[in-house]
Amino acid sequence: MGDAGKVGAGAEHNSFPTPFAQRPIIILGAGIIGCATARQLLLQGFSVQLVAEFLPGDQDIHYASAWAGAAWHAAGGITPEQRYLQAVTHRILLQMSQDPESGVSVVDAREFLEKEPAPDSAIWGRTVVSKFRKMDRAEYPAEFHSAWAYETLVSDPTRHMPYLRRQVQSLGGQFIRRRVQSLQELYDMFPDSRIFINASGIGSKTLTDVLDDRCFPERGQNVFLRTDQCHTMYFRNGQEYTYVIPRPQSGGVVLGGVKQQDDLSPEVDLDIAWDEITRAHRLAPHIVPEHPADETNGARTVLSAYGFGGGGYAFSYGIADALVEMVQEAERENVIV
Ligand SMILES: Cc1cc2nc3c(=O)[nH]c(=O)nc-3n(C[C@H](O)[C@H](O)[C@H](O)COP(=O)(O)OP(=O)(O)OC[C@H]3O[C@@H](n4cnc5c(N)ncnc54)[C@H](O)[C@@H]3O)c2cc1C
Repeated sequence: MGDAGKVGAGAEHNSFPTPFAQRPIIILGAGIIGCATARQLLLQGFSVQLVAEFLPGDQDIHYASAWAGAAWHAAGGITPEQRYLQAVTHRILLQMSQDPESGVSVVDAREFLEKEPAPDSAIWGRTVVSKFRKMDRAEYPAEFHSAWAYETLVSDPTRHMPYLRRQVQSLGGQFIRRRVQSLQELYDMFPDSRIFINASGIGSKTLTDVLDDRCFPERGQNVFLRTDQCHTMYFRNGQEYTYVIPRPQSGGVVLGGVKQQDDLSPEVDLDIAWDEITRAHRLAPHIVPEHPADETNGARTVLSAYGFGGGGYAFSYGIADALVEMVQEAERENVIV
């Protein structure tokens, strides 16, 4: 300990490089993916710094985590490994839901299916959620093929993101507000660091040394409706994709169900908003009125953690834990020589 305590303390020690295990892991991005990853790494004792233009509490069209309905919903058409990432996220969110400060709540869910579910549909989620059952015919509108009832988890981003920021800071993580043009700019800021995680979301399309042309923006738009009927989620699975996601701690529900590819307009589209209200009314008429009142050694390891489309919250902590394993793998390779 004596020697370690002296590292960097005086000019005579400057020739000693910082031991690999003490070099901060650098995360680009402070959305749900960057912040969840920072938390999980810090819990394992890593030193972490986050660099981001937008931080928890901000609202901007380029910061998806501020706008999510943020329900945990099992994704269809994914691999068993991807399902496990969602299952890990569910486990961690369930534990967090015991702390009201976290903004995570357990709610009832009703999912109505327009068609018979495909073999790789979201039904695998019944192995993860509580109280899953197929609903009786009399319990859901006749237009649907079938329906499921279960308990799920919803995060309120207006509370969960600031909660994560506090957690990260109290564990010793540091946020630096800065926009970078490239990963190289980040490497230059932290010449000692060897592990970088790119959790920049749509930023990866424009970082000059990433320019990932597989990334595309998918614009969503939600309506927040103030109501005390905010304890059950309604989800229409199919062509008329629509959701009513409760936010019990904010006293309302989030209505939505639109995905506009390659659109980054920050302007509210009122036609979309009214269409969402109409669809949500059809789905849950007792909650949504038809017309609501207006209201490596020497080398760097770069781990890519972006591109979660409509599921960043549902995958967040599973991705974070998978990244912790990758960081540990890089640490193992670099520390044991
Ligand atoms: C309307 C809507 C509803 C949604 N509903 C759900 C839902 O119910 N469930 C669910 O799981 N998901 C949902 N999502 C999806 C979810 O919001 C996203 O998948 C998730 O927020 C992505 O998080 P992220 O951390 O990858 O990116 P972001 O939150 O976009 O964060 C990116 C970060 O990178 C930083 N950054 C980028 N480029 C740079 C740069 N050059 N320099 C510095 N910093 C940079 C940004 O400032 C920011 O901090 C919804 C999304 C929308 C829009």
